[in-house]
Amino acid sequence: MNNEIKNEKVPLTGMTQSELTHLCKEYGEPDFRGNQLFNWIYSQKERNIMKMENLPKILRDSLDENYKVSSLQLSKVNASSTGQTSKYLFSIPSGEKIESVLIEEKKRITVCLSTQVGCALGCTFCATAKMGFMKNLSVGEIVDQFLFLQNASERRITNVVFMGMGEPFLNYGRVISAAQLLNDPDGIKLGAGKITISTAGIVPKIIRYADEGWKFKLAVSLNGTVDKERSKIMPINKKYSINDILSSAQYFYEKTGSIITFEYVLIENKTDSIGDALKLKYLLKGLPCKVNVIPYNSFDDSFQRPDTKRIEQFLNELKSGSFIVTVRWSHGTEISAGCGQLAVMNGDNIEN
Ligand code: SAH
Repeated sequence: MNNEIKNEKVPLTGMTQSELTHLCKEYGEPDFRGNQLFNWIYSQKERNIMKMENLPKILRDSLDENYKVSSLQLSKVNASSTGQTSKYLFSIPSGEKIESVLIEEKKRITVCLSTQVGCALGCTFCATAKMGFMKNLSVGEIVDQFLFLQNASERRITNVVFMGMGEPFLNYGRVISAAQLLNDPDGIKLGAGKITISTAGIVPKIIRYADEGWKFKLAVSLNGTVDKERSKIMPINKKYSINDILSSAQYFYEKTGSIITFEYVLIENKTDSIGDALKLKYLLKGLPCKVNVIPYNSFDDSFQRPDTKRIEQFLNELKSGSFIVTVRWSHGTEISAGCGQLAVMNGDNIEN
């Protein structure tokens, strides 16, 4: 909708240094004002244009009339009982809701960002899929989640994972632009190796990502070892098979020299057999990679997490493979902030 008609202020978050410079020029200001504005938004994380003291008052007044810093509105925060994990519910300007998660560990402060409202992929074990797909988030709406959570956290955020709601590679351009803003040495300054993009396996985008040579980490949600079974829980497998994914991962490695992390959700009687572990080892043989095993987090009764013994058996079998194995015991599952538990239904977030 036309901003003038709605008289809505345009958010600055999401704009690049050159876009901000261009904007300042429109107000007759020299180039360096754009750098100052960029610094205020991304480095100082100032949310109020009028507090950007080194900008001339006349510029602040004019900007404030038509622009605002943030595009998100915070609706709710839920903290886990340990206080280690907090889930943030935001509204975006068009009214939909999204969630982001802040996970504070000893050395690592991670934020999990959403890239879409809902998701189109329909993975049967993921709560976000139940919402269906609503829309892609803008660059600003993605980066603003980070800025909010950084302002809320006493410690500096060390890692960003694009593993919230949505499929990042179906919002490719904006997700890459958001990652670039997070990485910008004049702004947020997060190392490229501290930013992970996770995809369910949109193969043409994996190839494009390899060709473009981005340095952000790539994770691929494998969650299966046999096409027939994987297609049942991840319908996207009918379009891009396990073999297609593995070929693109090999291509990615050859092109960039970086390794992919395969995520593997352990679901009772679906993905957790010793046969699966053996097949996984076989499939990944000779491909430099990591495997991150994620014990399933429940959100309804459709699937179960395997018991600890079975998880251990699976891991023991996997550990003799040619790759590094890690386990992600999701944080904040009691406030539905774990992997695959993010969903907003009827405008409210799901809680147990
Ligand atoms: N669409 C992207 C990113 C979002 S999901 C992707 O598929 O990679 C982030 C991770 O959470 C994925 O590895 C996904 O397989 C995993 N996941 C989804 N639902 C889960 C659940 N209920 N329990 C544990 N992990 C889950």
